[in-house]
Amino acid sequence: MPTTCTRCEGTGFINLHQIPDVDIVAAEESSDFHQAILDWIAKNTDHDVSVCDCCGDGDEWYGVPGEHYNNEDPSGPNGPYAYNGGLCECH
Ligand SMILES: [Zn+2]
Repeated sequence: MPTTCTRCEGTGFINLHQIPDVDIVAAEESSDFHQAILDWIAKNTDHDVSVCDCCGDGDEWYGVPGEHYNNEDPSGPNGPYAYNGGLCECH
């Protein structure tokens, strides 16, 4: 069962509220919401929006953005959360 990431509230991003509503709507209407937000982050500088570090590293997602899978995650010392002792930061 996937669980919603509590750190980013299932969005895959931190500080998503800083993005203007009009740009959020545009991202939601695009074919790839997460890519649209990544593009927004790349194009805009005056903000603290970032990829949720539980969900991805900015280059790739660890799984479905905003979700964690109990049976895959955390995956211990060899997993993406090894830097945090094998625990994703929202647990
Ligand atoms: Zn997250």
